[in-house]
Amino acid sequence: METPNRAYKAHVLVLPYPAQGHINPMLQFSKRLVARGVKATLANSVYISKSMHKDQISTIDTDTFSDGHDDGGYDNAENPEAYLTKLRDVGSRTLASLIEKLNGLGRPVDALIYDGFLPWALDVAKELGILGVVFFTQTCAVNSIYYHVHEGLLSLPLSPDSTILLPGLPPLESCETPSFVYAYGLHPSFYDLLVNQFSNVDKADWVLFNTFYELEKEVVDWMSKLWRVRTIGPTLPSMYLDQKLKDDIDYGINLFKPHSTVCMNWLNAKPSGSVVYVSFGSMAQFEPEQMEEIAWGLNQSNYNFLWVVRATEEAKLPNNFINDTAEKGLVVTWSPQLEVLAHESIGCFVTHCGFNSVLEALSLGVPMVGVPYWSDQATNAKFVEDVWGIGIRAKMDDKGIVRREVLEACMKEVFEGKKKNEVKMNAMKWKKLAKEALGDGGSSDKNIDEFVAELVRS
Ligand code: UDP
Repeated sequence: METPNRAYKAHVLVLPYPAQGHINPMLQFSKRLVARGVKATLANSVYISKSMHKDQISTIDTDTFSDGHDDGGYDNAENPEAYLTKLRDVGSRTLASLIEKLNGLGRPVDALIYDGFLPWALDVAKELGILGVVFFTQTCAVNSIYYHVHEGLLSLPLSPDSTILLPGLPPLESCETPSFVYAYGLHPSFYDLLVNQFSNVDKADWVLFNTFYELEKEVVDWMSKLWRVRTIGPTLPSMYLDQKLKDDIDYGINLFKPHSTVCMNWLNAKPSGSVVYVSFGSMAQFEPEQMEEIAWGLNQSNYNFLWVVRATEEAKLPNNFINDTAEKGLVVTWSPQLEVLAHESIGCFVTHCGFNSVLEALSLGVPMVGVPYWSDQATNAKFVEDVWGIGIRAKMDDKGIVRREVLEACMKEVFEGKKKNEVKMNAMKWKKLAKEALGDGGSSDKNIDEFVAELVRS
């Protein structure tokens, strides 16, 4: 549809999987497009849209589609399979209606940028005759593993002592592959979700990754032979990187309410580099035994700690833990994570290694201790330790639990141990490279320019 004299170069509809770790990077990428004269509309599920805390993201329009669970989202579904089936069925229909609505309002959509978790969205785009652009929120390495599984080039189940050799990747032990791969059969719906990302990727017009070329060079080069791949990350707010987008200091959408003032006042009173920040993202649900071990590990360590324990996880804390540790610890249900990581009092990040958290720590030069929970996190933790050299992994025991002594020893290693200087030096190196990737003429900056130029031409 022609709309002469429109004030923008093209209009993209951006469709993240309804979760914090997917909304953040796709929202940030949208801001980069808007800064280049593109109009972006972010489509959230009705439930997310009703429940989110939204700050200023005025440069981006928001709208909704339905995941079939308008009143409670994922937590309201009978089980993961039921949620994902409805997400696809109701999502496809309501996404098509949304695009038609925007077209009818005189804001025709030129391209759909959809999350790799939602391959059915590409069918909608193709049926409506617009460009389909897949956006992967996990690393190129992780996606290469899923691709090999999808193509039958990596047969499952893996034997526990096998070494996996894939192009562009370091040798991986079975337990360093994503949990849906190494624990094949345990979460069939999530396995399908992740592996089926590659069911129709050949038909996508572009394949975008929230990573940067320098971080995953070999595997990006390998993947670029398959598809029109571009790396566009890291997708942190601009003020933490290149500072080109004025006022872009936050993602802007929180699914939980951050305790910003409490956290920042508490951090302001702590000496430089003295605090361990502990957060396991928006979804991890550790066993009560694991939560106890973390709690005691923090309690018996020498360090101040700021621990994010979501409201749904609080009951797993030992009795009186918050009061008993109040002198050196602060526990909150959600933090302004970027502000926290950028604070000079932070010396170490104990993380589940969700990829956004890893990218944030990497971009801000904060050393990590990895305590992966599931999904891509063990693979990310492997890269954090062995490839990027910006942290260490905490070893689990035979029951799959990271014990208090192990956690304590890992934090000590990062703060005071033999690896301290090397990790810190690498952290500084990657911080600089991340900034450069988004800076003028950097690898991601050029890729985004090229994407926009093509978008406008097509
Ligand atoms: N986050 C936050 N406050 C918190 C914990 C997490 O703002 O207290 C943000 C964090 O900055 C990141 C996202 O939530 O951008 C979590 O994404 P990640 O990929 O690390 O983990 P997931 O939640 O997907 O497991």
